[in-house]
Amino acid sequence: MLKDRISSSREYLERFGVDAILFVNLYNIRYLCGFTGSDGALLVTRDGGMFLTDSRYTTQAAQEVTRFPSREYRGKLEGIASYIQEYGAVRVGFESEQMSVAQFHALAGILPGIELVPIGTELTTLRQIKDVQELELLARSADLASRALLEICGEIRPGAKERDVALALEFAIKRGGGEEKAFDFIVASGTRGALPHGKASDKLIAAGELVTLDFGGVYQGYCSDETVTVAVGTPNERQREIYGIVKEAHDLALAAVQPGIQFRELDTIARDFITARGYGEFFGHGLGHGVGLEVHEKPVVSFRGEGEVKAGMVFTIEPGIYIPGWGGVRIEDTVIVTPDGYRCLTGVPKELMIL
Ligand code: ZN
Ligand code: ZN
Repeated sequence: MLKDRISSSREYLERFGVDAILFVNLYNIRYLCGFTGSDGALLVTRDGGMFLTDSRYTTQAAQEVTRFPSREYRGKLEGIASYIQEYGAVRVGFESEQMSVAQFHALAGILPGIELVPIGTELTTLRQIKDVQELELLARSADLASRALLEICGEIRPGAKERDVALALEFAIKRGGGEEKAFDFIVASGTRGALPHGKASDKLIAAGELVTLDFGGVYQGYCSDETVTVAVGTPNERQREIYGIVKEAHDLALAAVQPGIQFRELDTIARDFITARGYGEFFGHGLGHGVGLEVHEKPVVSFRGEGEVKAGMVFTIEPGIYIPGWGGVRIEDTVIVTPDGYRCLTGVPKELMIL
């Protein structure tokens, strides 16, 4: 698997006419060479490359990085520069969306005569199509988080603090085998539901409220992402109506997922339905995003998204309606695109759950 990933990264050497590509982004580094530590650099060349890290990680690198030789540096940029000079590279590509301006200038300063070639968005598509090993980890990650939510449902009750619900969920994910939470969970009850990114607060959940929970865990580096909106006590007519609209928009978009459809079309399917029901202005964000080593990665599944759905992609479908002063509903699932459709990774049933 790593072998295939490395060869697809080498295609960029040809495309950009460079002798080497310098990776400093830790997700890309993990993807290409398996290193899980918090600092390092990877140089990929036509016939090989080098993984560089500091003394804290040399032992770990020896265990994890099997397809590249490893080398220890004292100063990161100096270490990178000396390998580039030794190798004899003249043009070196770098992740222009990841490297800081300060790093770039420092590196250019110690590498006179070597041209640094920015490779931007093209490189962020490197991880878009998941391989079999990644799909397994993503499925496991999603399953862990969905189980955790079902396990702690009893905690979502009148008088419970949003923060305590978020903590119970995080604990359940970790107890189930997750390494950590994929992001700060959203637990937004009542009128706070109108905040699409309403992080869990000290607010107490009250009877008669809808509660939106957006959560995910990390399993062997891979994230999950799911949102459920539940009713605490019997929902009123408006709550049912709005939940029903979001659910139908979610189901329609989900049913359309298959290779060949444009990301924009998927967004349109959900958005047009919500707009036709009179709530278009309350659905501000895009329909979804890719999920992998990062919880938000390519592709962009929205009205801004370019390109088409391909088998092996993993992304979310998450329409929502957010009404200031009233509250909100979001429903989110993460799916794998299969050759003839999709498979849902997230597992909490999306019929309105009444607690
Ligand atoms: Zn989410
Ligand atoms: Zn999401």
